[in-house]
Amino acid sequence: MSQVPSLVKRRYLLKLAAGMMGSISFLTGAATGGEQQTKHNSISSEQALKLLLDGNQRFVRRKSIHPHQSRERMDSIAQMQRPFAAILSCADSRVPAEIIFDCGLGDLFVVRVAGNVACESAIGSLEYATAVLGCQIILVLGHQRCGAVIQALQEQPISGRMSLIVENIKPAVDIFKCASTSKNLVDGAVIANIKYQVQKLSESSTILTRLSRQGQLKIIGARYDLDTGIVSIIS
Ligand SMILES: [Zn+2]
Repeated sequence: MSQVPSLVKRRYLLKLAAGMMGSISFLTGAATGGEQQTKHNSISSEQALKLLLDGNQRFVRRKSIHPHQSRERMDSIAQMQRPFAAILSCADSRVPAEIIFDCGLGDLFVVRVAGNVACESAIGSLEYATAVLGCQIILVLGHQRCGAVIQALQEQPISGRMSLIVENIKPAVDIFKCASTSKNLVDGAVIANIKYQVQKLSESSTILTRLSRQGQLKIIGARYDLDTGIVSIIS
């Protein structure tokens, strides 16, 4: 490895470590009466979003530093995780969060499901990531040419439990199709689906709603471009 990436990597790690040491505080919630211990990670949503977008910039520029992948990192997080961001991403094999955001072990709490749908299990997982682990950001990450969204656009029956995924996307796509004059129907539907899943997360969980109202959570939509590798914020 050349010296330059090594220096960049060291600078990144020092910055991240300083930020975490200086700003992570743990507010131990009531652990009695069956309530889970609540850890409050004070890496703000703004700081977390910057770390994600900076990592994506490195990935796009082929300057990834592959942080937090050492044996020491494994050991340091073996007993407790403190991810700085939660991500609801499509399960598509071309959108692996740790790679496109240039992150490592213990950095991201990633929920992956086809179509990045906010299904019940996904919502429960994200409640855990935020209320228990203290992530202050949920990034809903859709992507260009999403097969699940394309399936929802087509008026064809789909077999098995794949239909459950499509049912979760259909409301967004149906509203979009009625209003759209867009030539790029698929990309418009991808964005409509991202916004719909953000709204669903925001409105269908009392835990996520409460955290948002208390200023401890931001739910943000983003689109991943398969051609360029760029993540763009869309809501
Ligand atoms: Zn997809």
